[in-house]
Amino acid sequence: MSKQQPTQFINPETPGYVGFANLPNQVHRKSVRKGFEFTLMVVGESGLGKSTLINSLFLTDLYPERIIYAEKNERTVQIEASTVEIEEQGVKLRLTVVDTPGYGDAINCRDCFKTIISYIDEQFERYLHDESGLNRRHIIDNRIHCCFYFISPFGHGLKPLDVAFMKAIHNKVNIVPVIAKADTFTLKERERLKKRILDEIEEHNIKIYHLPDAESDEDEDFKEQTRLLKVSIPFSVVGSNQLIEAKGKKVRGRLYPWGVVEVENPEHNDVLKLRTMLITHMQDLQEVTQDLHYENFRSERLKRGGRKVESEDMNIDQILLEKETELRRMQDMIARMQAQMQMQMQMQGSDSDSGTLGHHV
Ligand code: GDP
Repeated sequence: MSKQQPTQFINPETPGYVGFANLPNQVHRKSVRKGFEFTLMVVGESGLGKSTLINSLFLTDLYPERIIYAEKNERTVQIEASTVEIEEQGVKLRLTVVDTPGYGDAINCRDCFKTIISYIDEQFERYLHDESGLNRRHIIDNRIHCCFYFISPFGHGLKPLDVAFMKAIHNKVNIVPVIAKADTFTLKERERLKKRILDEIEEHNIKIYHLPDAESDEDEDFKEQTRLLKVSIPFSVVGSNQLIEAKGKKVRGRLYPWGVVEVENPEHNDVLKLRTMLITHMQDLQEVTQDLHYENFRSERLKRGGRKVESEDMNIDQILLEKETELRRMQDMIARMQAQMQMQMQMQGSDSDSGTLGHHV
C-alpha cells in the first residue's frame, strides 16, 4: 500500500483541516495535471443528515447538478450521482458523490438492496469493458471507491437492516461506518454506542475498511494521526449548512439553547477526522478497490466464463439476505419478550413477598 505524508494544515482558520492540495503527496505528477477522480457513495436511512454532511465536508452544495439514474419511484431506492470539480492550490479533484435516497424507507428492502448492488456492479462491468477495449488510456473510473454507511444515533447499535446491507456489499466496496447526528448524545453515550457498533461489526463478520498501519519510518505526526483516526472509528459526525457566530468567529454549526455545536471542532465531533481520513487515504481506498474488490469481481466473471451475474443468482442472494434480516428481527423480538417476562415474574415475586410481609404485620 502507499506511503503517506504527514498532514499539511493549509487552512490557518481551521486547525486540523486537511485540504485537497495535500493529494499530490500521494501520487504521481501526471495525475496531478490530470486531476484526481474519486467516487464516494453515501447510504443510510433518510433524515440521518447525509446530504447536510456531504455539503459540510466539501463546503459546496452538490445537488444542483445531480444526475438521477433511477426514475423517482416512492417504493424503491434512487441512485443520484453528482460530480463536482474542486480545485485547491492548483490541484483538481473530480469528486462524484452517489446518494441513495429512499434507502430503508420501503417495508420490503429487496429492491433497495438490488438497485444499489446492481449500480456498484455496473460500474465494475463498465470498467472491465473499457479496460478490454481499444481506448484504454482514457478510461473514466466510476467505480465506487468508498461508501459512508450512516448509522442512526437513536438505535442501540446496528439494526438488522444495517447488518444485512453491509454484508451484502462488503466484498464490493470499502465501507466506512459513520454515526449520524452526534449532537444528540452525551460523551458517555457516544463511547458506548461506538463500542457496541464495533462489537456488532465483529460479531457479524462485517468487513469494513481498515486504515493501513503507518510504516515504521513514517513521520511521528503521521503515525499519531493514523492512530487517532483508527481509534475514532466509527466516526460520529455533525452536519450543518449554517454559519453561526461563536467566540467572535463565524463557524459552521448548530445553535442550541445551551450553546453551539461546531462542525469543524474535533472536540465536538469527528467530521474533521473523517475528512482527513478520506483525503490522506484516498489513494489507498482506490488501490483496495482495484486490487481487492475489482479483482474479486473480475475473477467471479472469469469463473462464470465471462457471463454476467444473472438476475437469478441475484434473487437467491436477496432471498438469503431477507431471511437473515427476518431472523435477526425475530431473535430481537424473542429477546425483548423474554426480558419482559422475566421482569413481570420478578415483579410478581416481589408483590407476593410484600403480601406475606403485610399479612404478618
Ligand atoms: P438525508 O435525508 O439523510 O440526506 O438528511 P438531510 O441532510 O436532508 O437532513 C435531515 C434533517 O436532519 C434536516 O432537518 C437537517 O437539518 C437535520 N440534520 C442534518 N445533520 C444533522 C446533525 O448532525 N444533527 C442534527 N441534530 N440534525 C441534523
